[in-house]
Amino acid sequence: MVVETNKVSVKPSVVSRPVQSGMLGTGLAQLESAFDLLDLNPGLRAIIRQPERELTVSIPVVRDDGSLSVFTGFRVQHSSARGPCKGGIRYHPIVDLDEVRAMALLMTLKSAVANVPFGGAKGGGAVNPGELSEAELERLTRRYAAMIFPILGGKRDIPAPDVNTDARTMAWIMDTVSSLTGYMATESVTGKPIALGGSQGRTEATGRGVAIAAVELLWRLGRSPRGATIAVQGFGKVGRHAASILRDEFWCLVVGISDVGGGFHNPSGLDVPSLSAYARRNPGGSLAGYPHGYEIDEISNAELLALDVDVLIPAAIEGQITGENAANIRAGAIVEGANGPTTFDADQILRERGIPVLPDIVANAGGVIVSYFEWVQDLQSYFWDIQEVRTKLGTWMGKAFEEVWAVAAEREVDLRTAAYLLAVDRVANAIQQRGFFP
Ligand code: NAD
Repeated sequence: MVVETNKVSVKPSVVSRPVQSGMLGTGLAQLESAFDLLDLNPGLRAIIRQPERELTVSIPVVRDDGSLSVFTGFRVQHSSARGPCKGGIRYHPIVDLDEVRAMALLMTLKSAVANVPFGGAKGGGAVNPGELSEAELERLTRRYAAMIFPILGGKRDIPAPDVNTDARTMAWIMDTVSSLTGYMATESVTGKPIALGGSQGRTEATGRGVAIAAVELLWRLGRSPRGATIAVQGFGKVGRHAASILRDEFWCLVVGISDVGGGFHNPSGLDVPSLSAYARRNPGGSLAGYPHGYEIDEISNAELLALDVDVLIPAAIEGQITGENAANIRAGAIVEGANGPTTFDADQILRERGIPVLPDIVANAGGVIVSYFEWVQDLQSYFWDIQEVRTKLGTWMGKAFEEVWAVAAEREVDLRTAAYLLAVDRVANAIQQRGFFP
């Protein structure tokens, strides 16, 4: 059976079940399928399966009351074949080495799909930042940065914000790296405050890229974005900007929004600016307690995922669309704002149901694209205005989308498999052309 998804026909079940569970298992299973379709030689497969370097560090932090806590941190560099390693740092209580490995692999593939000259890395601290004061968080961040300093640097590995980290976190890391190197190393992190060499448009970049990707997909599926209905899970750095830009610049109707505490639904469209303003004022950016009229329903995250919309944008955390709830999805298409929001089982079900999924390594590549712009600006100490950043981001996102779409059409595969094919081919090519040291 071949499922017709408008112009792209998709052969179902091209990916075999992962031998390992979780996000890493899913990523590796996708990788194996791309290896087979590319008929890649065993040596290159072995190199790409493994991260190049992994560092686990213990981070002692003096608490405000004088006691000592020790946290665990990770930095995994998956590949530097195409350029310096690049990837975010997240703080979350359940961060572990396998999750960081999975996200480092995704970063290698994302940089390759976007065709920015970076490899892939990811970092994380197993900590609940809500339980630390600002001063404790700063001490934690600086000690973590110092512990991974030997493998960081603008030509080696460049962190960026991710879940529960932001421009302030990047400022602390840059200052720590700068103190240890002896010069202001602006190129050592991206997503910094503008005053410290950050780029215009970096804060909104991932969400803007997700919005651009959703619009491209809608057009390809024969639907105008004007009036198209959108549901967004997660109202943080990615979800908030994606929702605002889709509404304000592309005339979409954002009918559902949720965060960790629950969500809101209005079939006539939600007032995104008012939700954003409320979240900005609330501790932790939460939507809890948003005052609303009778026309808005309060809904759970499960209900948000099941809304009958043109595009569903999971932009919160991984593993949200699963084998258990994939059958309830009524969206016409899914655009992955988060990293790894769709589990392996869910992906199979959605593929069989003919629901196109634009994968994370394309859909949320806007962040790494503008991180690349920021790095270029830092290296030149010459800064662009917001319009230049936005125009260039539009061009780069559009190109990545086009290339993935073309591979999907040519190879008759789904969009995730197409993105993996494009990325793995680029990474493998770089490895082969560089040759093997010594
Ligand atoms: P964030 O911390 O700013 O926001 C996360 C949002 O998700 C919050 O609104 C939070 O309430 C919500 N959330 C958390 N757990 C949830 C749950 N169980 N159910 C529903 N909502 C939940 O994080 P972010 O930077 O917006 O990142 C979101 C996702 O996008 C992550 O997967 C991240 O890896 C990915 N991503 C981020 C960037 C970036 O530039 N920030 C780039 C690429 C990918």
